[in-house]
Amino acid sequence: MSENKKTEKIVGVKGMNDILPADAPLWELFENTVHTVLKSYGFQQIRTPIVEPTALFARGLGEVTDIVEKEMYSFTDSMNGDQLTLRPESTAGVVRAVLEHNLTYDGPKRLWYAGPMFRHERPQRGRYRQFHQIGAEAIGFTGPDIDAELIMLCQRLWDDLGLDNIRLELNSIGDAAERNRHRADLVAYFEQHKELLDADAQRRLHSNPLRILDTKNPVMQQMVNAAPKLLDYLGEESRTHFEGVQNILRHGNIPFTVNPRLVRGMDYYNRTVFEWVTDQLGSQGTVCGGGRYDPLIEMFGGKPTPACGFAMGVERLLELMKATGEQFASNQCDAYLVHQGEAAQLQAFVLAERLRDAGLDVVLHCASANAGSGFKSQMKRADASGAAYAIILGEDEVANGVATVKTMRSAEIETNQATVAFDKVADYLVDQIVGADEHDHSEHLHYHH
Ligand code: ATP
Ligand code: MG
Repeated sequence: MSENKKTEKIVGVKGMNDILPADAPLWELFENTVHTVLKSYGFQQIRTPIVEPTALFARGLGEVTDIVEKEMYSFTDSMNGDQLTLRPESTAGVVRAVLEHNLTYDGPKRLWYAGPMFRHERPQRGRYRQFHQIGAEAIGFTGPDIDAELIMLCQRLWDDLGLDNIRLELNSIGDAAERNRHRADLVAYFEQHKELLDADAQRRLHSNPLRILDTKNPVMQQMVNAAPKLLDYLGEESRTHFEGVQNILRHGNIPFTVNPRLVRGMDYYNRTVFEWVTDQLGSQGTVCGGGRYDPLIEMFGGKPTPACGFAMGVERLLELMKATGEQFASNQCDAYLVHQGEAAQLQAFVLAERLRDAGLDVVLHCASANAGSGFKSQMKRADASGAAYAIILGEDEVANGVATVKTMRSAEIETNQATVAFDKVADYLVDQIVGADEHDHSEHLHYHH
């Protein structure tokens, strides 16, 4: 290996993003809002491993889905030969865990999860190889009520996030028998129009013809629009279920359109399917998808158990939030502690802990490689930290048992420097910050009451 090679920088994996500190406040706001909304509907969090046996996805998602065919990160564990896969989605893992721990023994469960998913796709805007989903799974519920509740929960979330450009598309894909009857007619129809089918559609014609309806190819649009509609093949029970969902949504003032061509990527869905879509993200406009998956739990060897859920794409929703132009509070601290001399440094540690005891966010100046430790450069650091206050402990302060408290953002405050007894600094700062907070609610200070 040449000298050169050794020092070459290693870069991250293509399509897998670093989420940098500048974006952290946005992620936090998003995650906190979602958690609060989920909790307000009685959902409980479940955390499953990122790695699962490959067979779980092959069986759960269906062998002929996009994910299983070409998007999975699968590998052999060289230690023991196990076939493993980085989870491409979480429903299969959650259902596995529910069965493994018999979570529904005492009744149905409302669950949610969050975390990274992995799909080997071509990276582009809104499509990454590691991306994040937050999802909910309601397991053991039979009626259209839970389908509607999940949808309403999403609507509340968009409202709370200030997103008003997301619309709901709804469909029912019936049960297996209904789909089979439809499928026979659909394949016959596509065969009559074989000359219009693109390569993808040709391939799916006999493996997964329903997915052809989902095509984005403009050349096929008209032909696909006129194809036999699954909705016309629904039996009494599926129809009643679907009408039940729509009824609750209408009553709850949730606007939607029935899109008879809407199907979902995974094999396990039945009856209700839905997508939340926006026109603001180019061709990656689906921010959340979900539906009912009554057959899945039995497919995994459990007792027949109905279920319904959704998964939202975090990156796509964050892009929408950024596009609103709203400013998100940054990670600024309340105070930056500047000190000079050995005695002051030791005092600074004591003071910083006291301020944190009082609920304040405090950055203590520490020696760094690329800056001096003189007063001036410490004050520069204090400024750059975005702190509301600098607290200065020099030799004089230590000798007199005081600290100097300096306002860093002093537009409206007359005196911008005060000498405060060492023991009173915490009280003083809390008073100042609460006062400033009442004075100006737009400023995000991190005092925790
Ligand atoms: P698409 O049709 O865009 O490929 P999908 O049907 O594969 O979506 P789901 O498996 O239903 O998507 O996942 C739910 C949500 O997760 C999507 O609506 C989307 O917001 C997000 N998502 C899916 N794949 C990716 C990805 N590769 N990168 C970023 N977000 C994604
Ligand atoms: Mg996909």
